[in-house]
Amino acid sequence: MIRSRACPTCGTMQEFRRLDDKERAAVRAAKGDRHFVNDLWRCTAVGCLTYFRAGNLGDRDLLPETFRKEEAAAEE
Ligand SMILES: [Zn+2]
Repeated sequence: MIRSRACPTCGTMQEFRRLDDKERAAVRAAKGDRHFVNDLWRCTAVGCLTYFRAGNLGDRDLLPETFRKEEAAAEE
């Protein structure tokens, strides 16, 4: 599933997808085991780490640097 939203980091409309298992685990590690991560969406733009909670664009943060997509990796 993809949602189109205005990304505050990119400053443009971007496609967002749900966090995958690794991303959810990383958010839990950063925010605590009780942090609810099942409705988080991330920006799919190259180099963007922004994620937000479904229905609440104001509840957002950045994924760890290890999840940053490099420009070269996107040119498959
Ligand atoms: Zn973005």
